[in-house]
Order: sequence, then C-alpha cells, then structure tokens
Amino acid sequence: MTENIFFKINQFSNIDDKLFEDSVKEFNGELLYSTVSLCHHCHYHVPAYTYHYNNQLWLVKHCKTHGISHHMIERDYEFYKNLVYTPKKDTEQDLQVITEVTDRCNIDCPHCYHIPDNEVRDTPIDKLMEKYKSWNLDMEKVIFVLAGAEPTLRKDLADLVRTIKKEWPTTKVVVLTNGIRYSDRDLVQASIDAKMDAICVGLNHHSYINNPTVRRKQLEGIKNAFEMGLTVETISYTMSSVSELHDILEEILSNNWPARFFRIRYGSDIGRYPDQERLYLSDTYKLVKEWCINNGKTFKDLPGDNNLYHTMVSIDDIVIRLIQWCDETDINIEELDCGPYADFSSDGISNFLYSVIRRDIEKNQKIFLPDRIPEKYLFKQFSK
Ligand code: SF4
Repeated sequence: MTENIFFKINQFSNIDDKLFEDSVKEFNGELLYSTVSLCHHCHYHVPAYTYHYNNQLWLVKHCKTHGISHHMIERDYEFYKNLVYTPKKDTEQDLQVITEVTDRCNIDCPHCYHIPDNEVRDTPIDKLMEKYKSWNLDMEKVIFVLAGAEPTLRKDLADLVRTIKKEWPTTKVVVLTNGIRYSDRDLVQASIDAKMDAICVGLNHHSYINNPTVRRKQLEGIKNAFEMGLTVETISYTMSSVSELHDILEEILSNNWPARFFRIRYGSDIGRYPDQERLYLSDTYKLVKEWCINNGKTFKDLPGDNNLYHTMVSIDDIVIRLIQWCDETDINIEELDCGPYADFSSDGISNFLYSVIRRDIEKNQKIFLPDRIPEKYLFKQFSK
C-alpha cells in the first residue's frame, strides 16, 4: 500500500485501512493509493482508495453513515498509468484563480455547471475587491480568471479589470466568456483599453444550443478579438454527443485560429445536464486518436499536467486539452491537488473541478456544506 495521506486530512481520524483492503480483496483488486472523496448522500468528505481491477481504475470510499461504495473512475487503467504527468508548480494553470463576477447569462446551454440566475444583481466592484484582498494571497503572482455565468453582461467589466490592474499592476486578468458580446467591436476595444490580458471562449458545436444567430455572433466575436489584438487564449467545446467530434475537430483544424490551445470536454453530471452516458477520459482520447488515423492527421501525446481528468495532445501541431470531469459520486480529490483553482464554494479556494462540484451542492442544490475543504487541498501557494 502506498503512503497513507489520511493523517494530513484534518477531518479524518481512526481510518480503518483493513476495511478498504477487505472490500477490494473480494474483487481481487490491487489497492493503489489513499485519497479523499465526497459522500454523494450526505456530502461529507470521506476517506477513499483507488484500486486497479481488470484493467480498470476504481475508487472505493467509506462514509461512516452511508457505508462503502465502489465506483469505476477510468475504464482503461493502462491508459491512466501511461499518462505523462509532470507536476510543476507555477505553470499557468497553477497560478489561475477563477472567480465569479456575475450570476447572469444571455444563453441557456444544455450543460451548465453554474445555472445562471438573471434576477441576481451583480456584486459591486468595491465589494469584489474587498473579497480579493481577503484572500490574503500574493496577488501579483495570481492570474485572475473572471467567470460567471457570463462576465460580459456586466456593463462595468472593463472598469473591474482596470481596478484590479491598478491595485496589482503585474497581475494577469483573463475573462471566460461565451464570446457573444465580443461581436460588438466596441467591447473588444474597451477590453483592450482596460488591459485585459486575454479571453477564453466557450464556443461549442454549431448545434449545441441550436441558435444560428448566437453562433454567428460567437464566431464574429472570435474574429474581432483576433483582428483587433485581444488575445484568445483558449476556445472550448463541451460535447453533448460524440457525434459532434468530427465537426469540432474539422473546425479547429481548418480555421487557423491562433489560440494558445483548444479544449474538448464531454459533459458530466454537474449542474444542468442532459441525460447522457458516462464517458471516461480514455474514451474521448481514443475517439480523437482514431479520428486522426482515419483522416490522415498527426496525433501526439504531450507531456504536461495530465491526470485522470485531462490530458494534452496535439493534432497537426495544434494543441488540444481533452477533458472529462467526474461528479460528486466518484471524485478523487487527491488527483485534484493542482490548478486551476476557483473560489466557488463558501469555504475557500481549491481546485476548479472540486470547487465546481462543491458549488453545485451548495448553490444549485441549495444544501448546506456539512464540512470544510481539508487544509491539504486549499490553494495556499502564494499565501502571505
Ligand atoms: S455554460 Fe456559460 S454560456 Fe452557457 S449558460 Fe452556463 S454560464 Fe451561460
């Protein structure tokens, strides 16, 4: 058995390793490493182990109230084992703190972890600044990622960027957007004037929300940003169906968009979520690789911060991050002790996906979080 991390987790005491060993023995599984998960009934953090069985990666977790449960977390253990993981602190991802600046949005995506509420008034800039200062971090090192719902619905977004930059001049500020409002060149110019560093656009397949006008505006937004010199760092796609993959890859490869990289993610059961089967990272990876073979494209694995939930690849030298999120049922938090970070739950800054899942419990399901983020998983890299 590998190092037991439970002693580092403030919530746990008296962990019974034997319970896990016996439970996995029944399947002839091989225990791998201890981790932390969430109980999908009472939402407490619970001790867990990963194990290998029949070339699959499984998670066994134990809740004192709801007992033991087993969950497959990767269909192909060999694939997981071969991911090239280079955990380097201070990569771009590790510096990012994603923070919400509005609850409002101008579209309704079939997958939305946030689930916007257009009745909620935006928090004024001075209150947001108070919050950022209360993080007590060395802010000059942090990359601010302003998210929503849709940040561009704030009329004062450029002022917010300017205020952050005035307070912490070397801080980078990026905006996560659906890109619709960047079809207005005045907004692109206002963002450039405010010294916004980049935008990350959630584009999706052309049929994703079935609204050609919205899609046209998103494409115009991307074009405007490139033409006018506002950096588009990433362009992202969430797939409702793997049948969208062909068009998505065609679009990425044919457009010559100078984004730093692209993201392709298959949906998962968080927030708003249409009924679709659970896929694993290896599923999307193999589909993409097969598509490249069938279409005469070069496919390469790239080293990086690859883990159970994302891996970097390149197709004809275009860099793509393939992503598959877990949900509350099968979260392996030890695998999420890395950036990007987010402050979505009320008890601190932690890994983005972990924060999205806890936010979903707290804000979407309106369930009081019964415990806090274990100290080990709090973002504290730049604590003062
Ligand atoms: S995913 Fe983003 S763009 Fe889509 S509804 Fe949610 S907040 Fe709006």
